[in-house]
Amino acid sequence: MHKISDPKEMQRYSLEEKRQGHTVGLVPTMGYFHAGHLSLMRRARQECDRVVVSLFVNPLQFGPQEDLARYPRDLGRDAALAAQEGVDVLFLPEVEAIYPPGYATYVEVTGLTEPLCGRYRPGHFRGVTTVVAKLFNLVQPDVAYFGQKDYQQAVVVARMTADLGWPLRLVICPTVREADGLAASSRNVYLNAEERRQAVCLYQALEAGKQAIAAGARRAQEVVRVMAEVIARYPLARIEYAEVRRAGDLATMEELRGEVVLALAVWLGQTRLIDNAVVEVG
Ligand code: AMP
Repeated sequence: MHKISDPKEMQRYSLEEKRQGHTVGLVPTMGYFHAGHLSLMRRARQECDRVVVSLFVNPLQFGPQEDLARYPRDLGRDAALAAQEGVDVLFLPEVEAIYPPGYATYVEVTGLTEPLCGRYRPGHFRGVTTVVAKLFNLVQPDVAYFGQKDYQQAVVVARMTADLGWPLRLVICPTVREADGLAASSRNVYLNAEERRQAVCLYQALEAGKQAIAAGARRAQEVVRVMAEVIARYPLARIEYAEVRRAGDLATMEELRGEVVLALAVWLGQTRLIDNAVVEVG
């Protein structure tokens, strides 16, 4: 496995591989790999001739009061895991290489970035789309892999990719979960033992919401209430948002039909967790 930190070298590598007729798959990450990241790498390995994993803790997508400074990092372990998955290149640019002095260009998707996480993390998606746009230009992927765990992010990146006309295919991979249902996340390491036990409330709430829909619930508010009731049983949990929206465009719906997304952001102590479930309403 190569490690590349220079953006220009990264781009030369990809352009040369593509000139030779090889397909390039990109898995963008912020590192501290868990089973979710590895599932994306595995999928890319199956589908592409060359697999590039970027590891960049992007300051632009963190708010001033957020966890940038303490975001978990373990480069040695990450490199070993990526090598085990057969990754060809681990791209590890420095912040100054991605945003050199004088950097002034931002990519912003409107509309889709306003609700849900966008409402509570102003500027977050602008940071995400800006760095993903830059990564697309540096790595020139034929396919880019994202997780459904960050559903709104996947929708926003898909919009940007279509709007700006990148010649690449996006693959959204299913959410990988721990044995109790908690979605794998680098931020789970912040949880103490009791918070970790109660963190299952997100999954439990989504399951209860899905069951309510299966049992005939058709009003968004009813499903939201079911989810909120589950979370209320966990004293360390505080809901930031619990919503049901139309899948794909995140439009609000009172009466549920077609494909919908149940979306949650919940604080466990000082740790913010998100999760979601996409459901076809029969
Ligand atoms: P992150 O390093 O948290 O920015 O995540 C990098 C990529 O992995 C993103 O596309 C995430 O959506 C995806 N990802 C994170 N957690 C999971 C998970 N539990 N299952 C599947 N994909 C995930």
